[in-house]
Formats: sequence, C-alpha cells, structure tokens
Amino acid sequence: MADYVVVMYSGRIVEKGLAEEIFLHPAHPYTIGLMASKPVVGRKVDKLYSIPGKVPNPINMPNYCYFRDRCEMRCGEICDGEYPAMVQLSDTHFVSCYRFHEGVDVPEIDLSKLGIISLEGSGKDE
Ligand code: SF4
Repeated sequence: MADYVVVMYSGRIVEKGLAEEIFLHPAHPYTIGLMASKPVVGRKVDKLYSIPGKVPNPINMPNYCYFRDRCEMRCGEICDGEYPAMVQLSDTHFVSCYRFHEGVDVPEIDLSKLGIISLEGSGKDE
C-alpha cells in the first residue's frame, strides 16, 4: 500500500497526505464521495453512493473550485469565488477546499441526506 496519497480532480490536486490520513480522515468533499462510493466488506447496501453531476469540460474550465458544480457540501457564495488555496491540516495532510479556510461559515452536513449511508470503512467518524 502507498505511504502517501495524492487525490486529483480535473487535473488539480485537491487533497494529499499520508495514506491513513486520506483513507481514515478524508477531508475534501470529492475524497469523501470517493470513499463513500466504494464497497466495504461485510456491509450490505442496496446502492452505493454516487457523486452527482459530471466533470467540467476541459476546454472550458471554470475559474472557481472545479468540484463546485458537483459538491453537496458547498459553503455558500465563497465557493463561487476564486479557486480555493491549499490548507494545511497536519504536517503531512493538505486540502484545497473552503470548508477548511479560516473564518468560513461551514454548514452542518447530514451525510445520510446526501445518500451517504455510512463512511464506515473509510474511518470517517460521522
Ligand atoms: S471549495 Fe466549496 S465547492 Fe469546492 S469542494 Fe470545497 S465546499 Fe465544495
């Protein structure tokens, strides 16, 4: 297994960190969606989570967060602004998302309402 993991979306790094940070504590909504959409041994579900929408058109990339149009965890107008800078969560864990920028009003997200039944297996404590 890799020691260090880099998660990319539409050609940009959205999250990077030690494998256990990414797999046990995913931070970016895209990484969370990926973790929620994988099967977990021993867990029965009728349907796996599926990230809604489509990737942006590569010949007409937006100037805001590339994941915004698919993101179910948006923080309001700030997510319509310029592409979010990378934020450091630990010595080795980094994420590019306004949810982790200082002073941003981050809405509570009920993952079950998004169709994310559980992040069990990803290690996420929600
Ligand atoms: S910056 Fe906003 S739109 Fe982009 S992933 Fe984070 S919460 Fe979602």
